[in-house]
Amino acid sequence: MLTGKVVLVTGASRGIGRAIALLAAENHAHVIINYNKSQEQAVELLELICGKGLHASMIRANVSSEDDVREMFRSLTEIHSRLDVLVNNAGIMQNNLLMLSNTELFDRTIETNLKGTFLCTRYASNIMRKQGSGRIINLSSTIGLNGNAGQTVYSASKAGVVGFTKSAAQELGRYGITVNAIAPGFVETDLIKGLKPEIREKIIANIALGRIGKPEDVAKVALFLGSDLGSYVSGEVIVVDGCRMM
Ligand code: NAP
Repeated sequence: MLTGKVVLVTGASRGIGRAIALLAAENHAHVIINYNKSQEQAVELLELICGKGLHASMIRANVSSEDDVREMFRSLTEIHSRLDVLVNNAGIMQNNLLMLSNTELFDRTIETNLKGTFLCTRYASNIMRKQGSGRIINLSSTIGLNGNAGQTVYSASKAGVVGFTKSAAQELGRYGITVNAIAPGFVETDLIKGLKPEIREKIIANIALGRIGKPEDVAKVALFLGSDLGSYVSGEVIVVDGCRMM
């Protein structure tokens, strides 16, 4: 479904980003695995993909640093003359009650989740504008749509991603670029591994499909948006939460 396409996935060393990168490679894209700290996991994914006779490369960059992002896109364009799909997946979640949230937590979260999305989209859309096509997929969250006590900062960053997605879609559509967001509910990754068993049970009891999501559930939606199947979808937020009942 992505034969010959160049796909950059930020935060692809672990979790949802890893699953998106792997599925894109299995669909014959050349995947660029971005990571920041987890070099070992990024190498492991690279070896897995290349071991299957598929195509990938990896670039380290902290998405919240403009210098790093500029350098990532410089080396990307040096190797590939194009970029077809950008997945802004890199993100962090550190929860705290509003009263206990300091500005350091706020800055770190906004810089990774929102500024990182802004920076990568700006550099990617520059390439995509010139080629007259492109797909940008941003990872938001149902917490960004509905809010959640103890997650004011994270939800603000993810709500920001929704507004950013809708505006960028309107601005970039004339260049043949689609911009969409995916809002997962609970997905089995390191991000939620600290949940207490009783909280997990409560969460599952409120999911109509009766289970927490898998990274692959999100990856399939990213594949739809990044491939020809999603060619007339832009400015949308697709919720992937197994039907969470409030
Ligand atoms: P995860 O397992 O914690 O993985 C996070 C990934 O982001 C890692 O690959 C990490 O790379 C990367 N990352 C973090 N900060 C970075 C930075 N400054 N620069 C570059 N990469 C960075 O998280 P996940 O659950 O897969 O989440 C992926 C995305 O989905 C996030 O945006 C998250 O907010 C969103 N989401 C997740 C859930 C969920 O339940 N899991 C629900 C809704 C939304 P390194 O380890 O290499 O630094």
